[in-house]
Parts: sequence; structure tokens; C-alpha cells
Amino acid sequence: MLDSRVPGGPLAEKWDRHKFDSKLVNPANRRKFTVIIVGTGLAGASAASSLGELGYHVKSFCIHDSPRRAHSIAAQGGINAAKNYQNDGDSVQRLFYDTIKGGDYRSREANVFRLAQVSVNIIDQCVAQGVPFAREYGGLLDNRSFGGAQVSRTFYARGQTGQQLLLGAYQSMMRQVERGSVTMFPNREMLDLVIVNGQARGIIVRNLITGALERHAAHAVLLCTGGYGTAYYLSTNAVNSNVTAAWRAHKRGAFFANPCYTQIHPTCIPVSGTHQSKLTLMSESLRNDGRVWVPKTQGDKRPPNQIPDSERDYYLERKYPSFGNLVPRDVASRSAKFVCDEGRGVGDSGLAVYLDFADAIKRLGRDVIRMRYGNLFDMYRKITDEDPYQVPMRIFPAIHYTMGGLWVDYNLMSNVPGLHVLGEANFSDHGANRLGASALMQGLADGYFVIPYTLAAYLGGTPLPAVDADMEPFTEAQASVQARIDKLLNVKGHETPRQLHRRLGQLLWDNVGMSRNDADLRKALDEIPRLRDEFWHNLSVPGEPNNVNKNLEYAGRVADYLEFAEVLTLDALHRTESCGGHFREESQTPDGEARRDDQRFSYVGAWEFKGVGTPPALHKEPLEFEYVHPSQRSYK
Ligand SMILES: Cc1cc2nc3c(=O)[nH]c(=O)nc-3n(C[C@H](O)[C@H](O)[C@H](O)COP(=O)(O)OP(=O)(O)OC[C@H]3O[C@@H](n4cnc5c(N)ncnc54)[C@H](O)[C@@H]3O)c2cc1C
Repeated sequence: MLDSRVPGGPLAEKWDRHKFDSKLVNPANRRKFTVIIVGTGLAGASAASSLGELGYHVKSFCIHDSPRRAHSIAAQGGINAAKNYQNDGDSVQRLFYDTIKGGDYRSREANVFRLAQVSVNIIDQCVAQGVPFAREYGGLLDNRSFGGAQVSRTFYARGQTGQQLLLGAYQSMMRQVERGSVTMFPNREMLDLVIVNGQARGIIVRNLITGALERHAAHAVLLCTGGYGTAYYLSTNAVNSNVTAAWRAHKRGAFFANPCYTQIHPTCIPVSGTHQSKLTLMSESLRNDGRVWVPKTQGDKRPPNQIPDSERDYYLERKYPSFGNLVPRDVASRSAKFVCDEGRGVGDSGLAVYLDFADAIKRLGRDVIRMRYGNLFDMYRKITDEDPYQVPMRIFPAIHYTMGGLWVDYNLMSNVPGLHVLGEANFSDHGANRLGASALMQGLADGYFVIPYTLAAYLGGTPLPAVDADMEPFTEAQASVQARIDKLLNVKGHETPRQLHRRLGQLLWDNVGMSRNDADLRKALDEIPRLRDEFWHNLSVPGEPNNVNKNLEYAGRVADYLEFAEVLTLDALHRTESCGGHFREESQTPDGEARRDDQRFSYVGAWEFKGVGTPPALHKEPLEFEYVHPSQRSYK
């Protein structure tokens, strides 16, 4: 059932050949096709602008009042591309290799090679849109380094790269709105996918201002709805990020792939109490110049500036001399956990390590550091009331990104014909661990450079009988959405959605977090259904369904997390190997590194929904490596 549809031929020629072999849609015929795009982050906005420009009739939906509020706006550090402007040995081949290795050999070679190929086009497109990337003294675009790479290939706009890229994609999309090819539907939440005769042909959305349910029909549906990190409650994601659209598509038949691959980012501002609803990222770019350390001695509570260099353990530089502070995120996060577990963590909670700029300031001067990271330093100071120019930052790992998502083939189509999934919402090209600055690259690759071809092939080559929104599948889907809303409002218990969400998040973080084992995973699988039961007996949702009701929106998303969390945990339990961000304590090397089991687990695990509380069915897409030989990942 899981045909990845990877085209034949040599790796470097697959994409060009595929584009040539694929069907096209005549320019005059494109306006006859309606395409629904859910989500206006980098993946959704780039897809809407590209497809609108081509002449398709696009309907674009988002939960926010403006497309610009998509979580992509928060991305800080940068976007990778194999331009080799630095003349330091980069190439498409090297970006491909770094990404396959960084993902711990759990991604598809052909997809990753295509991603590396189109990375170079993305930068040109964005510059043409006016995205103000940083430049070096000669006028060329500047680069910095991110984890898991020994070249500098990360393009950036201070610490606001996502914002500038999204403004570029947004203005291109708004140009199409002006031209009439894209119609915007803000303040709409997709609550169901409509399938007609086996094809994805529409969606049901709730108007978040009036509460009205609306039906929208189309020839194809694109989900660009982001990741599910917020299942853990505390994460670096925008609080409005959620799993609802993907989960409801899953309940209509789309397989969910590798949900246990969650990324924990090593450099976040540590948790400071139970009052927080989100955590703040300190961009990975800071590890270009910041040095990570803890005291050598357990329980050393002296202020950092009173601990001499000889009594500090720069543990990343010590353990991984080749990559030093720029090891990939999974490796850096686990190392931080280990030193804190040893009792060498800093700060009041002992759950933090230092990220120190003193040496860089001495070497480069305060002005250079301010120019590179000024807004991040300001953000840190505002949140912690400490000045990182004077004292080291305190950082700790936190949930940040999700490599799992809806399963898609090479054409970005799920196993449900017509349902395409782009950006962080798909199970992605990043395998078991994403390298920094590659999510923006993937979202824009999907939207600007892949979907315009593969969607045309689908629309041009598939019989698509006429549908309208009065048909029975739309009526059935709307009725089921209405029934769920009524059910949420009628529990009339005592706990808010936030309280229940926080409890789920803690449960996941404690048992399905940075380091996982059989007993904890089974405990989570035992407790999640109990918490779900409690939710449906004790939830309190004040207010009405027919106007703005934030609690109602939130309750629907928490209900979905409570179903989704079970498959996430089950996936983590079944994968008894360690790979990338999925660390099973039972499967490690003598020096504490992740130990893969290629014999048994070299596959994408895609789960099929069988009912709430009923175990899902596992489908496997074997991973074959023709060009890169999987080996023990080493950054030493
Ligand atoms: C703090 C932070 C910093 C980051 N920095 C970087 C970086 O420097 N470089 C990098 O490569 N990556 C970075 N990432 C990751 C990157 O930002 C994301 O992976 C990427 O932006 C996701 O883009 P997207 O378009 O897939 O989804 P999003 O930007 O999350 O967009 C999702 C869209 O879907 C809509 N939506 C969601 N659910 C529904 C629904 N049910 N109905 C209707 N609409 C819906 C939302 O309104 C939104 O428009 C960072 C992530 C975080 C958390």
C-alpha cells in the first residue's frame, strides 16, 4: 500500500526526469481547478503564491486573523542552501549527505537529494522578493554555521529569518489575492477532511468569529498546518500550533508516519515555573560563538564568573572535538541532560547549562556580537532579567520540532488520493532528527518548487468527477463536526482545557521525552486513555458555540492531542532502537550514543487509524540506501 513513487534513474537525475515525465495542465485549463490550501506558514503561503501565479483557483485557510501570524514567523536562525558562497567545500552532494546522516539514516534518499538540489533556487527566489538576508562586506549574502555541518551554508536575516521569509511569501500570496487567483479565508479552523469516492475533495471549517460551520469543495486539498510539538504543552512552538487538521485527516484514512520522532532543541530558556504556557528558543546560531559548559564538580553553586576556566567542563568540545558546540541538536540535548542528571546542572532548578559568550566578546568585540545576535540577547534579557553580555545564558532542552507527520510519497501526496501534505505537517525529509535551518528550506522547497509540478501531474492525470458541497459526504462530515462541538460543550465539568493539556504535556515529557524506556512508555500508554476519559467527564468549556470562543477551539485541539498522544507513544514503544531524536535507553553504545538497529528498523513506520482506543495498524515503507552507506553516526 505504501508506494513511495520514487522515480527510477540515477539519484541526481530523478527529479528532472520526473518533472519531464509528469503530466502538465494547460495554462488555459488551470483556472478550472480549485485547490484548497490549509495553512499560511512558509509551506502554505509559498504553495498558494506559486499555484496562484500558475493560474489555479486557490482557496487559502488559516486559523489566525492574518496569514502572517503563522508560526513560521517565529523562526530565528536561518535557512540552509548549498550555494557554496563561502568556498568552503559545500555542494548539493554535501548538503544531501549531511541531511541523511543528520537524520540518522531514517529518511528517503531521493527526497533529500531533491531538497538539496532546490535549496539553491529558494535563495534566489527570496532575494528576488526582497528578503533582506544579511550580507558580508563585499555585498554577497553572508552565511553562518548550524549544527551537524562543517561548512557555513545558513542564510539569515539577523535572528528574524522566518519573519522575513514569511513576509516574502505573504506578499507574493497577497499579489495573487489582488489578481483574483487566491481567495483568503482567515479565522477558519479546518475540522474535517471530506472524501468523495476515495478522493480528498473538500474540508469542513469553523468560522472562528461567528461559529458557523462552512463546507468547501475542491479538486485537491493541501495540508500545510505545521507540526504537533504542542502536544507536549510546553514547547518553543507558537501556542496556536496544533495537530488537529493532520489528526482529523488521519481519522479519515491518511497514515501518520514516525510520530515518535520529536526534536528536542538544546538551547531554550529553561522552565521557570507552572505559570508558563510556552518556552522561548535561543537560536542554534548562538552556538557559532557561544560555548556550552557546566562546572566540573557536582553541586557547584558559585556564580559563573567565580568558576575559573580550569574548573569548567566544556563538555561538547571535550566529547566531540570535530564539531564541538555545533553538534546536532539530538546529541547536544542528550549531553545537556546527562550532565544535569549527574548533578552538574546550573541555576536554581539544576536543569540548565551555560551558553557563554565571554570569549567571543573578547575576540570579536561587543558590537560584532550585538550585530549578529542583538535581538536574541534582548529577548533573553527581557525574559530572564539577566544581561547575556555580562553573564552566560542559562539554557535547557525543550520540545521544538516534529519530524513525524502525515505520510507522503515523493509527490507529497498522502495515501489518500488528492490529499497533499507540505512543510512540517508531513513526515518530512529529516528522518529521525532535523538539522538546524532545514525546516524553512523544506517548507519553501515543498511550496515553491515541488508541489507546482507534482500537483499538476495529479490534476492532469486523474479523473476528477464534479463534486459540490451539497453532496452526502459533506453533510456527513459537517454533522460529525457539529456532534463533537456539542459533546465538548455538554461535558460541563470543572477542569479547563489548559489544565488538562498541561497534565498531558507533563505526562509526555516525563515518559516520552528526551530519553525513553519500555517501562515509562507502557506507563504513558496506561495513563493517556485514563486522562482522555477524565477529559470527557470533567472538561469545562464556558461560553457559546456561535461566537468567538477560545476555550471551545482549545478544547477541540486538546481532545485531538489526547487521541494522538497514544499513537505517538505506541510508535516510540515499538521502535526499540535509538535513532536521532528517539533515544531508547535500552539501545545505546557503551559511551551513551544512540545505537540504531538497521536490520529491524530501517523503515518508515506509518500508522493507520482503527478507532479511538483501538490499536492502529502499522505499515512499513522500507528505506533503501543506494548512495550513502548507513554507519554509526559520529561527530567526534
Ligand atoms: C522558535 C522557533 C524557531 C525556529 N527557527 C528555525 C530556523 O531558524 N530555521 C529553520 O529552518 N526552522 C526553524 N524552526 C522550524 C520552522 O519554523 C517550522 O518548522 C516551519 O516554520 C513550519 O512551517 P509550516 O509552513 O510547515 O507551518 P506553520 O508555520 O506552523 O504554519 C501552520 C499554518 O497552518 C494553519 N493551521 C494550523 N492548523 C489549522 C487548522 N486546523 N485549520 C486552519 N489552519 C490551520 C496556521 O494558521 C498556520 O497558518 C523554528 C521553530 C521554532 C519553534
